[in-house]
Amino acid sequence: MTKPLAELTTLRVGGTPRELHECRSLPDLVSTARTVWESDERWLLLGGGSNLVVADEPFDGSVIHVATSGIDHVEGDESRIRVQAGEPWDSVVAYAVERGLAGVEALSGIPGSAGAAPIQNVGAYGQEVSETLTNVDFLDYDTRELERLSNDELGFGYRTSVLKRGRKGVVVGIELQLEPSTLSRPIAYAQLATSLGVSLGDRVPLAEVRDAVLALRASKGMVLSVDDPDSVSAGSFFTNPIVSERFAHGLPTDAPRWLLDPDAPESEVKLSAAWLIERSGITRGFSLPGSNAAISSKHTLAIVNRGGATAEEIMQLARFVHLRVLGQFGVNLYPEPQLVGVTL
Ligand SMILES: Cc1cc2nc3c(=O)[nH]c(=O)nc-3n(C[C@H](O)[C@H](O)[C@H](O)COP(=O)(O)OP(=O)(O)OC[C@H]3O[C@@H](n4cnc5c(N)ncnc54)[C@H](O)[C@@H]3O)c2cc1C
Repeated sequence: MTKPLAELTTLRVGGTPRELHECRSLPDLVSTARTVWESDERWLLLGGGSNLVVADEPFDGSVIHVATSGIDHVEGDESRIRVQAGEPWDSVVAYAVERGLAGVEALSGIPGSAGAAPIQNVGAYGQEVSETLTNVDFLDYDTRELERLSNDELGFGYRTSVLKRGRKGVVVGIELQLEPSTLSRPIAYAQLATSLGVSLGDRVPLAEVRDAVLALRASKGMVLSVDDPDSVSAGSFFTNPIVSERFAHGLPTDAPRWLLDPDAPESEVKLSAAWLIERSGITRGFSLPGSNAAISSKHTLAIVNRGGATAEEIMQLARFVHLRVLGQFGVNLYPEPQLVGVTL
């Protein structure tokens, strides 16, 4: 049974694949992937569909929907958990918080599956999954074999990993090493510290951090909710650009920037994509004439489907934003979601 990917992606766009395989068990996932790969046709892995922009045209190939579930403890270590790839990421966070395991509490409310979390090294409010992820079980496209890839082998960076940069295969499970503690990891994000009424570096009960993060995220339309039209998005549409410190000197002095590694010979800074977009004149709620795609009314970084938008309308708005920021500041914005059959 196939159906439009618009029904399986949070942006609600995407054409119908020729075949849609929903894999609910590990053996099914492994054998389906191997069979699909043998046929040499186009294929796409799908988790929660929250980081994808898929073209409206029919997808001439197979979509493998990773729908496995389960969270287990590694024997003999109550703070180490193994999670099946299709388990919703936020269930993993809730599980950890409830059991007094610290390390992922600031990643509360990120949509999508556990298996996709390492793909772009999900991060928010001062934490990234790479800080707690020890390894992934991976079905490698080239060898067709299951192997365990360690954190080091995954080449994590800001919103990236070797899996996002082109290593092909299926993450079938992930392992996290958490800290047995009812207190959070030290708070590392100023806005979160302010909302909790604590200082950076303080440790706070896990549930309080989770609640504060969920509230902050909801205020920005970053928690999926049927009641929030601004959450019909793929989250942040652009990553924060990284430029050389020398280039950043030429930007307006009030442009927010964070020095990445002060010891590097050619030091780099991370800029705020949201600031660049706003300063280029694009405001919250903005849309192109006649289009059903719009900038979120709560957050300039998200592009939302206001109802009935096509993938092309989403991309037209993304191109407009990209060109405005490039023209005004000479900075290239890169899309955060994976683009399938569409281009910036
Ligand atoms: C409202 C909203 C808020 C968001 N906030 C954040 C945020 O704060 N921080 C953040 O980092 N991201 C955020 N995101 C983006 C998104 O939630 C994450 O990137 C998430 O990890 C995507 O998971 P998914 O299962 O939905 O992946 P999908 O969208 O289904 O897939 C994304 C990519 O991963 C691949 N993939 C999926 N599953 C697997 C697998 N098992 N093995 C190998 N490849 C796989 C897909 O082929 C695709 O290329 C947000 C998105 C939304 C809609």
